[in-house]
Amino acid sequence: MELEAVTEAVEARRDELTDLARDIWEHPQTAFEETYAADRLIGVLAERGFDVEVGVGDVETGFVARYGEGDPVVGTMGEFDALPGLSQRAGGTREPIEEGGNGHGCGHNLFGVGSLGAVLAVADAIDAGVEGSVVYVGTPAEEAGSGKTYMARAGAFDDVDAVVSWHPGWYNAPTKGSCLAVDSYEVTVRGESSHAAASPEAGRSALDGLQLLNTAVEYMREHVPDPVRLHYVITRGGDAANVVPPEATGEYLVRAPSRDLVEEVSDWFENATAGAALMADVDVEVTQTSGIYGVRPNETLGDAIRSTMAELGSFSVDDPIADELKASLGDVSDQIAELPEEYRDRAAENAYFTEPIDALDAGETGSYSTDSGDVSQLVPLGRMTTATWPAGTPPHSWQAVAASGSTGTEGMLYAAKTIGGTLLRLLTDEELRAEAVAEFEERGGADYESPMPDDADPYELLGVERPDFEPSVDVERTPAGTADDD
Ligand SMILES: [Zn+2]
Repeated sequence: MELEAVTEAVEARRDELTDLARDIWEHPQTAFEETYAADRLIGVLAERGFDVEVGVGDVETGFVARYGEGDPVVGTMGEFDALPGLSQRAGGTREPIEEGGNGHGCGHNLFGVGSLGAVLAVADAIDAGVEGSVVYVGTPAEEAGSGKTYMARAGAFDDVDAVVSWHPGWYNAPTKGSCLAVDSYEVTVRGESSHAAASPEAGRSALDGLQLLNTAVEYMREHVPDPVRLHYVITRGGDAANVVPPEATGEYLVRAPSRDLVEEVSDWFENATAGAALMADVDVEVTQTSGIYGVRPNETLGDAIRSTMAELGSFSVDDPIADELKASLGDVSDQIAELPEEYRDRAAENAYFTEPIDALDAGETGSYSTDSGDVSQLVPLGRMTTATWPAGTPPHSWQAVAASGSTGTEGMLYAAKTIGGTLLRLLTDEELRAEAVAEFEERGGADYESPMPDDADPYELLGVERPDFEPSVDVERTPAGTADDD
């Protein structure tokens, strides 16, 4: 009964939500610069009567929108940042709209709007007498910059009882697994330039320092526990081979299933930077550019999502673009092999695979990282994916961009219904809420301390200019530097 009301509320807004997703897709902006998407989403929420606060966590395009009075409080998140270099038209063949331009290769245009559809439906239910509140947390900069970290530590999730969120994908299922925590570093090495042939003794090579550090990282790799991943690139090595490089820079990542292990390996890495500096007789400066937790799973919420999907059933996508996109992917049997055997033929034969299935990753730690990890340390977090893309489509591909701007909206509406239905159940089912909280406590409870230094400036660290963001509608603003850290 409840789910029926949610389905109707989403269907009533089908055109509005579809147009909005397309509009954001047509204005792709990357991490921390997503003023267009944030403004459009805030506009709809404010018009519907949500109280909106922008600039949360000192992130200009981060916002929290709230509807209803008092407890319980349930919430969802909306991402809306695009990726650089992935410009692509909404058609079945590879063709950028603007060579080298941005594109929604992770479907975050659908992500933000699908979550919006969910909270609008829950707001209708609250109007009809359901007790409690619903919160939409607009979280910028997922692809780079870890926007949620800054919002989480500023208290954006503090009074929320449970969060249900999603990500575009190519099948409908809850996500029950964990993933890796990560620390990122930028290392700048400074030496002394000189003529590489005439006066090498006068020089100290910054590149040598960096290469010694990379050698240390290679040796570390053998002696860290198996799930630890260490990655690096040299972003600047020098300008000319006949000049001893005075400055060199590199980027480093340390990933592990737990924060403790990340921090242990990070300490070792920082010691290695000091060692490299001594060996090459150069100066080394290390800046931590991000630090996030792995996801703490919540199977109770995963099961609730699964049963909502079971009630909704599947949906169909009927568009020649879908068939062209599927064909363009070529052989996707490896991806489809992730599915239980009984579904593989259907996923191989049809453009879209839309039957809801059980989580594919229960009990596993995925080899990826997301800033949703921080949220999952603060509040029970249910996660899911829906079939917004043809079966087997990899994220960050041109096909993902094309589908996110065309046939992906059916999967987005399905996400809106699933999240809306699950949030409504959480509002009305005290037992389910208690169970989700009990599992959260069992897995460690709220024990969150942001790994990022207090004075870390997200814009400076990512190297983007702080946008001058003034939403078109009148909303509350968090004054800069007054993050609520109680
Ligand atoms: Zn994504």
